[in-house]
Formats: sequence, structure tokens, C-alpha cells
Amino acid sequence: ANWYSNSPLSPAHMDWSSHFPAFVDPDTSKTNLSGGRKLTKEVEVVDIGCGFGGLMVGLAPLLPDTLMVGMEIRTSVLEYLSSRIHALRSQQQRLKNKAANPSSTELQDASAQPEGTESTAPAPSNDDEIGTEKIFPGNFENITAIRSNTMKFLPNFFGHHQLSKIFICFPDPHFKARKHKARIVSESLNSEYAYVLRPGGLLYTITDVEEYHHWVLRHFLHGEQPEGAAPAPSSKDLFERVSEEELALDPCVRVMKYETEESKKVTRNKGNKYVAVFRRKADPEWP
Ligand code: SAM
Repeated sequence: ANWYSNSPLSPAHMDWSSHFPAFVDPDTSKTNLSGGRKLTKEVEVVDIGCGFGGLMVGLAPLLPDTLMVGMEIRTSVLEYLSSRIHALRSQQQRLKNKAANPSSTELQDASAQPEGTESTAPAPSNDDEIGTEKIFPGNFENITAIRSNTMKFLPNFFGHHQLSKIFICFPDPHFKARKHKARIVSESLNSEYAYVLRPGGLLYTITDVEEYHHWVLRHFLHGEQPEGAAPAPSSKDLFERVSEEELALDPCVRVMKYETEESKKVTRNKGNKYVAVFRRKADPEWP
């Protein structure tokens, strides 16, 4: 398979129905451009480079009516996460059945790692998620994962102003200067993020690498244009930084800081975590 086989021709061709069966529109006449059934709502939240999915699993009950997708380039990691989500959904279904009929079958442990994956990820993030009979809002029906290289294909999946939140958690740092072009924050990628984010939407970043944090601030708040480029709106026209006071009230920040697998590793190693969140401004006037 090549990358193209995973990418829809355009967002209108993307068939989300198998990802979000609980949200398929009952009207069978509503289909997308590839003939798949439409959903009752659009995907709104994306986790770029989601890894083992701690962010998605942590956010799912917080935003039970919001459809969210994690995007990940590594096949084995993606397979692990898909199995994890299916296991969580099945567990929730069993709990609901059991609540309706208390003599029904025992719980299966949704933390079980599928055979053959190289995951070192821990069980789903919430300690009482497994082993106690807890039914979570949304039953994890609102999260999914897709294998894709977001540096190439984000606009194939999401239309203009479709997203309300984008997360970039602990991106690979690519320390050496000659590798900086592989970073998933850059002037050109930021304009893609601005394209798919709606005005007022938020782009969340967190890293344990202080230099990368400054790179992020520079690229979102100053927006350098390549020499000789035609004048055009840059990141500084499109994003503003969200204040600490506002972030203190945002539960998504806590999930980002403590529930992704990488954030847990940084906590264990007593490392620093640098958070920066940007609000998509209104589209600038441009002649
Ligand atoms: N966000 C997760 C967390 O906080 O636990 C994972 C962080 S890990 C350091 C970075 C992840 O980004 C890896 O899983 C990597 O495979 C993924 N990644 C890197 N480049 C990517 C790309 N272009 N598209 C999608 N995923 C990518």
C-alpha cells in the first residue's frame, strides 16, 4: 500500500461511516462522493501524530458529542490504537448490556494489547477505566484513528474551517538543523492548519523540548515568509496566543499534559512541559 491508498481524493470523498457507526445518518439517501453513508455531524477535532491515543481516550468522555480523529504515520501504532478503541467500545457495550441485564457476561479487559504489536503503551489512561464498572459519556463511539502522513494529506481529509481543535502533542523534535524541515510545525504547514481550523478554533501544542517550544512560538506568532515570496497573510495574521488564565480553565489542557503516553513518560522522567495554544483569528482582509 502507498500513502495515497489511505487518503481520500477530497474531504467530500472521505467515508467516515465505518469509523463512527453510532453517528451514521439514518437517511440512506445521504451519501458522500465515494458513495459511503454520511454522518449526522462532521469530525471537528484532530490529534496530529496521536501515537497510542492517550489524548483521544482522555478527551472522548469530556467531549462526548464531538467527533475526534487521531492521525498517526506508523502502521503498527495505528493498529494498536484502532484495537484499543474497539476494545473500549465493546467494553462499554457489555457494561450497558450488564446494566440492563445484571446476570450477563463478565467484563473483558480492554487494556489487553493486541498480539503482534510493538506497543509499550500502558492501558487506557484513566486508572478506574478498566476493572470498575464505569460507563463513560459517549462510550468512546466519538473517537477514531487513521493512518496518514499529516504533512502531506491533512487537506484531503478536512475542509475549510471544518475543525474546532487541533492537537500537536510532543511532536518528534528533529533536533539537527538539517532535519528541521521534517518538523510538523512550519510556516507552510501552519497555513494548512489555519485553512482547516475555523475562526475561533484552537491549536494546542505541548513539547518537552524548550528549543522546539520557541520554534513553535516563532512560527505561530511571527510567521516568517520565505525570501522573495509573494506577499500573503502569514501565521501572525491568522493566530493569536491564548492566555494562561484561559488555559487554566480548559480541561483539554490537563488531558494534554497528563494523559498522552509521551506526557506520562516526561512526568516519570521529571522533565519540563511547555504548552502553547493558539486561537485562529478571523480571516484577514486581503486584496
Ligand atoms: N502525541 C503522542 C503522545 O503525546 O503520546 C505521540 C508523540 S510521539 C513523540 C510523535 C508521534 O508523531 C509518533 O507516533 C510519530 O509516528 C507521529 N508522527 C510523526 N510524523 C508524523 C506525520 N507526518 N504524520 C502523522 N504522524 C506523525
